Amino acid sequence: MPDFDYDLFVIGAGSGGVRASRIAASLGARVAVAEERYLGGTCVNVGCVPKKLFSYAAHFHDDLQDARGFGWAVPEVAFDWDTLRDNKDKEIKRLNGIYESLLEDAGVRILEGRARLSGPNRVTMGSEEYTARRILLAVGGWPWNPEYPGAEHAITSNEVFYLERLPESIVIVGGGYIAVEFASIFSRLGTKTTLVYRRDTLLRGFDAEIRGFITAAIGQQVALRLEDDVANIAKTDNGLAVTLKSGCELSCEQIMLATGRRPLTDDLGLDSTSVELTPSGAIKVNDRFQTAESSIYAVGDVIDRVALTPVALAEGQLVARALFAGDVGEMEYRNVPTAVFCHPNLGTVGLSEEQALAQGHQIDVYSSVTRPLKHTLSGSEERAMLKLVVDRADERVLGLHIASADAGEIVQGFAVALNCGATKADFDRTIGIHPTLAEELVTLRSKRESAT
Ligand code: FAD
Ligand code: NDP
Repeated sequence: MPDFDYDLFVIGAGSGGVRASRIAASLGARVAVAEERYLGGTCVNVGCVPKKLFSYAAHFHDDLQDARGFGWAVPEVAFDWDTLRDNKDKEIKRLNGIYESLLEDAGVRILEGRARLSGPNRVTMGSEEYTARRILLAVGGWPWNPEYPGAEHAITSNEVFYLERLPESIVIVGGGYIAVEFASIFSRLGTKTTLVYRRDTLLRGFDAEIRGFITAAIGQQVALRLEDDVANIAKTDNGLAVTLKSGCELSCEQIMLATGRRPLTDDLGLDSTSVELTPSGAIKVNDRFQTAESSIYAVGDVIDRVALTPVALAEGQLVARALFAGDVGEMEYRNVPTAVFCHPNLGTVGLSEEQALAQGHQIDVYSSVTRPLKHTLSGSEERAMLKLVVDRADERVLGLHIASADAGEIVQGFAVALNCGATKADFDRTIGIHPTLAEELVTLRSKRESAT
C-alpha cells in the first residue's frame, strides 16, 4: 500500500469542506484542508450569514414604521451603512476565527492558498506537493454573468457586502434568490431600487401561486421591469446608464448582476485525473459523491445539485462518515426546505402544485391569503399567503408554501412533519398556537380543486 501524507485532502474550506474535514478528523483520519480565500466559504463570508445580517437591518425599517400604529412616536431616523458593513465585517472575522479553531481542535491541518490536482492522489500548492489516499473537491461556485456590453461596471454578490457607501440607486438584474433578497434589502435601506428580470414572474422553480404573490409584494417595494433584460451598461459622469432591451433607459449608481452561479472548476487540474464534468460544468459524481476517478469525491455547489448550505453540510458529512466510519447512509434530496429572505419571506418544503401534477399526483390544494394580526394596527399593507398541496389518494401533504414574516422559521418545523409523511388529517388534528400565523396551517379548510 502506498504511504500517503494524508488520508483525506479537502480542497475548499466552505460549508461542505469544513464539515467533511472535521468529521473525518474526529473519526481518526489524517486530514488537510486547503483554502485560498476565506475560512467558512461563501456562506460565512459572502452568502447566507452577511446576507441575513443585512436582511435584519432591512427589517428594522419595517419595524420602525410598524411601531407607530402601536403608539410609539418614532422620530425620523437615519440609517448608517458604514456601521452595518463594519459590524458585519467584525462578526464575519469572529466567525472565521471560530472556523479556524474548530478545524484545529479537530486535528485538521489548514493549508492557506490555492490547491490544484496533480494526479488522482496528488495536490499541488505553490511549490509543495501533497499526497492523499482520498481527495474531496468542495470548491463551491462563483457568480456567473451574461456577457452584457459594459458588464465590467457591474457588481455581484461578491462585492455587494463591501460597498464603500450605500448607493442612492441600484439596478438589480435577475429573478432568483439573490436578486429578490437584495431587492428587499436595498429598498428597505433607502436605496431607489429597480429589479430587471427576463420573465413575467420572479423565482422560477417555486410554486406558481406563491411566485405571483411574492412578485406582487416585491412590486410594492421596488420598480419592477419584468420581461426585459439588459442591453448595455455604460459609465456616465453621474454613475451608470443602463439600457434595457425594451429601449428603456435607467440611470443608477450601481448595477448588481444576480444572474446565477456556476461551479468553480477552472484551473483545478482536473485534466490530471479522470474526473468528468456534467454538461453544465459541474463535477459528475455518483450517489456516493465519488467522481469517475475513484480516489476523488466532490460535494456542495460544485456538484450543482441543490446549492444550499445545509445540503453541502449533509453531503460533506455523508462522505466523511462513509469513508471513515463505514456508514452507507444516502443523501435525501426530497423535502429539502428552503427560504428566500425577501419581504415577506418565502418558505417552502416539498412539491409545488405544478411539480405534484407533473409527477402524476391527483391533488387538493388549500390556500389562503390573510392579513397578519400585527398589520391590523401597523397600517402595513403586507399580507401573508399559506398553501398546502395534498395528495388526494392518501391525504399526504406533498408541499407546504408560506409567504410571511419568519416563513423560514415556520417551515423548518413543518419540514419534519412532511418528512414523517404527515397527512392533512394529521395537520387538522394538531391544535394551533393562538394567535399566530402558523396556526392557519392547521386550520386551512378552503379546498381549491386543482386542474388535474
Ligand atoms: P463554498 O461555501 O463556496 O466553499 C468553497 C470554498 O472553496 C471557498 O471558500 C473557496 O475560496 C474555496 N476554494 C475554491 N477553489 C479553491 C482552490 N482551488 N484551492 C483552495 N480553495 C479553494 N444557502 C443557504 O442555505 N441559505 C442562505 O441564506 C444562502 N444565502 C446565500 C446568499 C448568497 C449571496 C450566496 C452567494 C449564496 C447563498 N447560499 C445560501 C448558498 C450557500 O452559500 C452555498 O450553497 C454554500 O456556501 C455551498 O457550500 P460549498 O462548501 O459547496 O462551497
Ligand atoms: P438563481 O439561480 O436563484 O437565479 C438566477 C437568476 O438569473 C434567474 O432569475 C435567472 O433567470 C437569471 N438568469 C440566468 N441567466 C440569465 C441570462 N443569461 N440573462 C438574464 N438573466 C439570467 O441564482 P442566484 O444567483 O440568485 O443564487 C444562486 C444560488 O445560491 C441559488 O440558486 C440558491 O441555491 C443559493 N442561494 C440561496 C439563498 C437562500 O437559501 N436564501 C440565497 C441566495 C442564494 P431564469 O429564472 O429565467 O432562469
